[in-house]
Amino acid sequence: MADTDCIFCKIIAGEIPSFKLYEDERTFAMMDINPFNDGHCLVITKAHAVNLLDADAADLAAVLPTVQKVARAVETALEPEGINIIQANDPAAGQTVFHYHCHVFPRLLNDGALLNWGHTPGDMARVEEIYNRIMAEMN
Ligand code: AMP
Ligand code: ZN
Repeated sequence: MADTDCIFCKIIAGEIPSFKLYEDERTFAMMDINPFNDGHCLVITKAHAVNLLDADAADLAAVLPTVQKVARAVETALEPEGINIIQANDPAAGQTVFHYHCHVFPRLLNDGALLNWGHTPGDMARVEEIYNRIMAEMN
């Protein structure tokens, strides 16, 4: 179901232009128009969903093969030094467009993207406490 106020729904409907890379029954891939590095692409669900938490599981299952297809094309065409697959849920996580999308995010060594957090040894009691809280919600 499309959301009439949603820019990505408008792109899927062809009402707004895009650099379309691919589409199938459930997914759509295009260039990000504000690329961090060359080859920055987006894979989105055709059905409107605000983000991962809201999306249909079958749509999500269809996303990863499309992500792989796009990432392989980026890899072959541009030979970046690495590729992150990134997906933001809610503003604190950096989400700015509220229609599910996955970034295919080419990386270069020392490109300065603030995505790599260091590994600080964890407090295992705290990890276990948090684990138990999440496990209680798993189904
Ligand atoms: P996020 O911040 O994770 O919600 O990512 C949203 C992404 O959508 C940003 O990287 C934007 O550059 C990108 N974006 C916004 N509008 C468009 C558009 N019309 N076509 C392609 N990409 C867009
Ligand atoms: Zn939408």
